Amino acid sequence: MMTTGEMDGLEYRLKRSDRKSMGISIERNGAVMVKIPHQAGLNDIEKFISEKKVWIYQKLAKKKALNRERPKREFVNGQGFLYLGKSYRLRFIDDAGTGSGKPPKAAPLRLWHGYFELAESEKANARERFIAWYKKQIKRRLKERIPRYDKRIGVTVKDIRILDLGHRWASCGRNGVINFNWRSVMAPIWVFDYILVHEMVHLIERAHSDRFRNLVSRIMPDYEEHELWLSENGAELDL
Ligand SMILES: [Zn+2]
Repeated sequence: MMTTGEMDGLEYRLKRSDRKSMGISIERNGAVMVKIPHQAGLNDIEKFISEKKVWIYQKLAKKKALNRERPKREFVNGQGFLYLGKSYRLRFIDDAGTGSGKPPKAAPLRLWHGYFELAESEKANARERFIAWYKKQIKRRLKERIPRYDKRIGVTVKDIRILDLGHRWASCGRNGVINFNWRSVMAPIWVFDYILVHEMVHLIERAHSDRFRNLVSRIMPDYEEHELWLSENGAELDL
């Protein structure tokens, strides 16, 4: 027998059968299917769902992300670009400099008084300019963030490489090297920190084992929220 239910805004389908334990799955169409024994009561069901909540939302977000195209940002006046979780509008300025002043020659793109300012002559290179800018910010941030965690975790980060890692946020190389995706600094700072802490912990525990999770949660007790944030919003962090 199939019925439906709802809990905290989450709709699910309920299927009772002769099974002994409860199970949950996400159907191809994105429906949440909860399979339960005949005798299970509403309290048992809700308790089970709330225990699985993070998992459910992660799966749903992944499905959504897969079905969604990456945002195609056009480099036009007024378009929003992300930095540390906030969106700033792009403003082209002529090379002589207008309004808020002339962009320094060495930095054709800058974040200035709440706007990304790019020299008009750099329009054709806008994407490259943004990537270069993000890379620079990551280096700057990491210099300040790594010392917050390295002694507590007990690792030494020997080097940082900032690369295009596609849909991976970071990876852990050999010999204390951490690779960062240039897109990572579009995330809010606590999520950025989580990406960092995750890889720093990998320097001592490579697998996503219980030990790994314990170490991460010791440094960042609410890390599951950041993981969830990434799975729900990660696809937006792109150019
Ligand atoms: Zn990992």
